[in-house]
Amino acid sequence: MSLNPSPLVSIVAPCHNEAGLIDAFMARLLPLCAALSRFRFEIVFVDDGSSDATEAVIARLCAEHAHVKGVALSRNFGHQRAITAGLDFCAGDYVIVMDADLQDPPELIPNMLGKLEEGYDVVHAVRADRTVDSFCKRATAKLFYAFMRRWVLPDLVENAADFKGFNRRVLDALRRYPERVQFLRGLFATLGFRQTTLPFVRASRVAGESKYHVRNVLRFARDAIMSNTALPLRAGLYCGLLLIVAAFGYAACAGALAASGVVIENPLLHVVIALGGALFGTTFVLLGIIGEYLKCLMLEVKQRPLYIVRATYNLPADADRNVSRDPGHW
Ligand code: UDP
Ligand code: MG
Repeated sequence: MSLNPSPLVSIVAPCHNEAGLIDAFMARLLPLCAALSRFRFEIVFVDDGSSDATEAVIARLCAEHAHVKGVALSRNFGHQRAITAGLDFCAGDYVIVMDADLQDPPELIPNMLGKLEEGYDVVHAVRADRTVDSFCKRATAKLFYAFMRRWVLPDLVENAADFKGFNRRVLDALRRYPERVQFLRGLFATLGFRQTTLPFVRASRVAGESKYHVRNVLRFARDAIMSNTALPLRAGLYCGLLLIVAAFGYAACAGALAASGVVIENPLLHVVIALGGALFGTTFVLLGIIGEYLKCLMLEVKQRPLYIVRATYNLPADADRNVSRDPGHW
């Protein structure tokens, strides 16, 4: 081994039921890696509790290539935690996180590495257009980013998902966030460092299906908000204050009308019922929001593991965070 080996790039790809796509992913990736001869590469696949042959495919690729690594989780832990597991096991000087379903084009990797070599610490792949998405997905994404950037994380990069490249310093910084309720792309908005973007066009899925159904998307948005801001709790407070002001305003009006001799038939009763209803509603909404935050706190306090590894391929059984491993050769 030379004294000054070329930089190691870890490509981290979470997979859940992607058995039909991993070989195609590798076929697109390998020639690109081979052409970038100034880098060494390792590809870390994380099987996130798939029920299809994903793990067997990963195991086969690991047997064929020393620089392909596999981490099989004990069950499905979700996309964000699968990425975290991959990050814990990778040893690169540079890291690229990308989906294994070929929606994130591997052809962007040379440009990403170019930007990292220029001195940027993080490169976000940003979707240049969202025409492959349904109208509903586009509209909710727009709303989500507008809300998040206005109220929660002003530095959140719009239309940048988890397809990113970053260097070792950023990887080490990310590993210092042991959060249970995760919104990885939000962490990047709090990290600082020199960040830049690269536009790309996201392809449609060629096989398999998206795991982000409406319920998962709503959960994702909830985690993004609750892990980063207490704004909804404050919104409850403002609603309560508004209602109190309205109640006092009404009392003042009623008093003024009574004083000027105007007779209104039982107006107070209607208004009291309306205000009472609003107050009740607000109270229950607030209780629900407090409950959600308590659940987040409970999850953080319990400190349960973020993921559990069942098997590894071409890797030690435990993530060894500080050891630089030889990735093998092409
Ligand atoms: N994924 C995962 N665990 C999950 C869901 C998804 O590891 O519980 C992986 C999936 O295999 C893919 C990536 O995360 O490589 C993105 O998921 P998906 O394609 O379903 O999301 P979409 O592209 O539709 O937003
Ligand atoms: Mg996808």
